[in-house]
Amino acid sequence: MVNCQCGESGRTLRQIAALVACLSLAIGDWTLAIASPSSTIAVELSLFSGGRISGAVVDHNDDAVVIVADRKPFVFAWNEIRPQSAFVARRALLTHARGGADALTAEDRFALGLFALQNDLVSTAQMEFAAAIRLDGAIAPRVAEARDARREAASRRQADRGGEALPAGEADDVAAEAEREPSADAATGDREIPLDDLVGRNLAAAPGITVPPEVRRQVREIYDRFAATVIERMGAGTTLLETDHFLIYSDLPGPMRQRVGEWAEAMYAALHREFGFAAEGDVFLAKCPLFCWKSMARFQRFARVFDGQDGRNAVGYTRSIERNGHVHIVLFLSGRTEAEYDAFVATLVHEGAHAFVHRLGSTRLIPHWVNEGLAEWTAESVLGDRCPAGEKADLLAAQYVRFNWPIGHFLRDVGPIAVHDYPLAMSVVSHLIAVDRDRWRRFVALLKEGRVLPDALAEAYDGLDLAGLEAAWRTWVAARLSLPPANDGPTGFGNE
Ligand SMILES: [Zn+2]
Repeated sequence: MVNCQCGESGRTLRQIAALVACLSLAIGDWTLAIASPSSTIAVELSLFSGGRISGAVVDHNDDAVVIVADRKPFVFAWNEIRPQSAFVARRALLTHARGGADALTAEDRFALGLFALQNDLVSTAQMEFAAAIRLDGAIAPRVAEARDARREAASRRQADRGGEALPAGEADDVAAEAEREPSADAATGDREIPLDDLVGRNLAAAPGITVPPEVRRQVREIYDRFAATVIERMGAGTTLLETDHFLIYSDLPGPMRQRVGEWAEAMYAALHREFGFAAEGDVFLAKCPLFCWKSMARFQRFARVFDGQDGRNAVGYTRSIERNGHVHIVLFLSGRTEAEYDAFVATLVHEGAHAFVHRLGSTRLIPHWVNEGLAEWTAESVLGDRCPAGEKADLLAAQYVRFNWPIGHFLRDVGPIAVHDYPLAMSVVSHLIAVDRDRWRRFVALLKEGRVLPDALAEAYDGLDLAGLEAAWRTWVAARLSLPPANDGPTGFGNE
């Protein structure tokens, strides 16, 4: 069994926070060639996913911010940072750029007001707008327009969820849920989904491999029995929504569950198109079970009882069993802000991509950076503006190219990667896809056949080696983002 790394180390980033908690970051300590210590500031960011991280800002734009902490770069979309913390950081950066708070212009204050409004900091927005209007009365109509637009966007989004407001203050009582399942050991028998007895062989979906219909039927019967246990243990609020390719067991309100099904199918369609495999019917054995909970407590309870893990530090995971081809997805909706809802949808598509790729061609696991990069790429492709993955990948890749930070070690290592490296993985995968889609498909197919990464790369991309990939990726990033030529020689986070 393998969990997606975003399950293990969590988009929660709690471990990162713990790591940096003991770090006293002295700006003078790092010697980026670009940013002399006087040209940037340090910020402390409080993350939606839990934890705080401090570091010096290397770059930022309207989408995201890159900081260096513990000599590593981290990129965060602004909407991954708690609103108050994001606002304080943005205001500090703008004030720093202008040379002082007194130098902020009417446009600056208006922009800060907009940012506050987008983050539901209503009274802060009010103050910034008032300051903008004091500096330039002509801004008043734009303030009114911004407020109207914000209201319209909010009602559009609610309609998108079938009219459901986000769960407000859903009781997230981990202790109470734990009490209902006092002993995880007692539930050991539930953990194995007994497909081995039935199938006895690996039934991946691939051209030329057809999973016999009677096998699919039998697998479905096993899934139904498994689900009956889940419903019994997790309570009557858990119901099934069946879509073309997913069995969605959830305690979310009906319209939101419906939307989960639509996102999952959109992910499936995108990857089916992307890989264009010939399997008729389903890439999954008998649709993909997807367990979607309305609180972290219920998610952790499911993880503990049915997958034998604590589910802490995770917002979702994919359980992939290599030997029998089974895969299921587990996640939960936390929080009540639109940004948190977007993060939930992005997790859904990200984990769904892992589930799909797990069963594509073979059930062999592929190198982690390829897997995570593809999952992020899929989330961006399916969700567009709703998902910051592409913007984060671009902003982080830009820093690697500007400062000649090497990525050779990253490309060579096929093991688990840290969450903060997902955007880098996405950038490299996006490059491989942009070079040539057919080669990319061939590359993934070779990995799924069990070829090692350098071999698969060389065969699919005309003899390309890892050094060649790194060089080509740098050129691609620089051209796409219109970056000036990099300095000669790498510059590190610290020249020790
Ligand atoms: Zn992942």
